[in-house]
This record gives sequence, C-alpha cells and structure tokens, in this order.
Amino acid sequence: MRWEGNRESSNVEDARGGGGGRGGGFRLGGGSIGLGSVAIAVVAGWIFGINPLTILGLMSGGGTPQTQQAPAPAPPTTDQMGRFVSVVLADTEDVWKAKFREAGSTYREPKLRLFHGSEPTACGTGQAAMGPFYCPADEKVYIDLRFYEVMKSRLGAPGDFAQAYVIAHEVGHHVQKLMGITAKFDSLRGRASESQINAMSVRLELQADCFAGIWAHDAQAARQVLEQGDVEEALNAASQIGDDAIQGRSRGTVVPESFTHGTSAQRVTWFKRGLQTGSVAQCDTFQSREL
Ligand SMILES: [Zn+2]
Repeated sequence: MRWEGNRESSNVEDARGGGGGRGGGFRLGGGSIGLGSVAIAVVAGWIFGINPLTILGLMSGGGTPQTQQAPAPAPPTTDQMGRFVSVVLADTEDVWKAKFREAGSTYREPKLRLFHGSEPTACGTGQAAMGPFYCPADEKVYIDLRFYEVMKSRLGAPGDFAQAYVIAHEVGHHVQKLMGITAKFDSLRGRASESQINAMSVRLELQADCFAGIWAHDAQAARQVLEQGDVEEALNAASQIGDDAIQGRSRGTVVPESFTHGTSAQRVTWFKRGLQTGSVAQCDTFQSREL
C-alpha cells in the first residue's frame, strides 16, 4: 500500500504509554487467551443482552466499567506504525466526508485510540484480546497495535493493506452509527431471539466489510493507494477472520447460528462488492436475500 507522505489524521489518541496494560492476558504466541474465549464472551454478550465489552471487562476482573479516560497525545512522529494508522484514518475521513456531502449530510469524524492491554471506554473495559473494536457511545475505534502481529502470525493475514482494512472496517461501524443503523440494531435486543440477533449481527458486520471496500475503492480512485497484491491481502484477511475460520481454528465445532460476523466467503463477497462499486446503496446487507 502506498501511504508514505499522505495526510495524517489529527484524530489519533495514543494511550499506550499510560501503563494501562495490567497484563491483559494478551500473549503473542502463548496459549492463554485465544480467540475462542473472546468468541465465548461475545456470544455471552448477545445472549444476556449486555454489551459484550462489559462482559469481557467483568470476566477479566475489570470490575465496574469506567468511562474516565486519561488524555492522550498524538503518536510520536518517529512511530512508523502510529503514522501508518493515522494516514489510514485520514484516508477514511476524506472518503466518508465526500460520501456524506454527496448525500447532503455531514460526516462526524471518529477518534482512533491506541492502547496497550486494556482500556476504559464508554462501552466498558476494552481488552486487547478482543481485537480492534468500535464503541458507538464514545465514537472511538480502539486498537492494540500488537493485534497486527496476531493477524500475521496466528491468523495468517499479513500485509499493510490487510491492516488498513481492519481500521476501515471499524470506521464502517462508525458510519453505521451515523446512519442510524446501529440504533435500529440495538432496539432489536430484548425483542428478538438470540439466533435472530446473531443473524442481524452478521448483516451489520458484512455491511462494515462492504463499507471498508468502499474506502478502498474511493482511496484508490483519488490517491492510487493500491500496490500489487494489496487486494489479495485484504481478501485473505477478510477470509481468515470469518466466523467459520475462527471457530474452526479455536478447535470448537462450527456453529452457524452463533455466527456474528459471517463466514469467510461472505466477508470476501461483501468487501469485494464495496471495492468494485464504491456505492453505499450496494452495501445494503439488510435488504439482501443472499448474503
Ligand atoms: Zn465489526
């Protein structure tokens, strides 16, 4: 991916230095926390109708979720990884600002908060082991950048464009919030069955993948960010983090009703659709009969 020299976002908060780690159980290559236990916590969250972040916080002994965050500066300019995510975030800002403007609306930029181990959020305590996530309540994307190491070594998804896709997917959830889709989804909780909610969650996630594809489409058109092999990198990442792939890898049986993100094939399909069309209308996973 070509990104050096492109604009960096001013919306990145670097909370890695604050000692918020507490260990967190996030061990590269270690067997302590696998994606399996993360999946269990997330599934439990849907079952009990509690925000999965809150559950994860309680499971890790985090106690009452805090919302007080320490102020965080921009990442140091010497930090290559910090600069990379700042450029990717800036790129999503440019793309979505233009898309919202075309639709006669205004895009509100999300923050991207870098942390180590664990971090208080308005959605409960975020844990590195959950992978990157978006908290609608404070409109921030959270990522422990060591996740990229996990992607490469344990999920078989290396490459800078795959890393950018992860940010673009989380920003996709922010776009859903601004479009009122998240609120609609939340109103289902308590009214729908667990499998219905999981099915809706899959559509929500696949739409975020499609929105990530839109980012790639528009960024390529405006700034020619793609290099040889980049699209394959992102498609591979989308495939490696499908629910079936993750469940299979964590040695559980694959239980389709418990899927909350979609299968590998579905994630690839929807990312591609956004990438090829660049059209928000083409990303309506909720109206689509076939996923
Ligand atoms: Zn997602």
